[in-house]
Amino acid sequence: MTDNISITPLFTEEIIADRTQQLANEIAHTYPKDLLVVALLRGSFMFAADLLRALHRAGAHPQVDFMTASSYGTGKESSGQLTIYRDLTENVHGRNVLIVDDILETGRTLSYAHAEILNRGANMLHICVLLEKPGKCITGIKADFVGFEVPDQFVVGYGLDHANYWRELPFIGVLPQ
Ligand code: 5GP
Ligand code: MG
Repeated sequence: MTDNISITPLFTEEIIADRTQQLANEIAHTYPKDLLVVALLRGSFMFAADLLRALHRAGAHPQVDFMTASSYGTGKESSGQLTIYRDLTENVHGRNVLIVDDILETGRTLSYAHAEILNRGANMLHICVLLEKPGKCITGIKADFVGFEVPDQFVVGYGLDHANYWRELPFIGVLPQ
């Protein structure tokens, strides 16, 4: 599956780490004391782990929870159907929530998660994504914190997959066609 394919870094480990700390500093500045980070699995696991440590360095004391929701299946195109495979453990009612995801493309995944968490009574609700593909959003959802803009190509690494491969890469690169 991954044999004989090499991925050229688009964003190196160092670039990602620097940007993650900048985002964490902004987030720590935006939120009052209470902060629940909701990481959308699986793609955001590596970014969320690094963002949490960066938030600690920025003086914040967030809680964390996870939700697995996908509109993609195993392909490269969004299916338009969204399924929750694993729900939150925490009650978000009255909480200040930051949704963290890997990449904002059509916005289907995030608009669904955003509406769901708002519907459950979250107080303050923001979205942080590591990557955004400009011009691709069809849902009107906007991220409040964005790490990097990426070209309209399929990227993998640093948690982002193709058919659940490549998540382990410490950097982000474009998957060759
Ligand atoms: P959306 O719902 O915004 O169309 O898509 C968001 C989800 O699609 C992301 O959380 C990610 O799982 C997947 N996705 C969208 N674009 C890419 C991409 O370029 N690479 C990878 N690996 N996943 C993507
Ligand atoms: Mg995802």
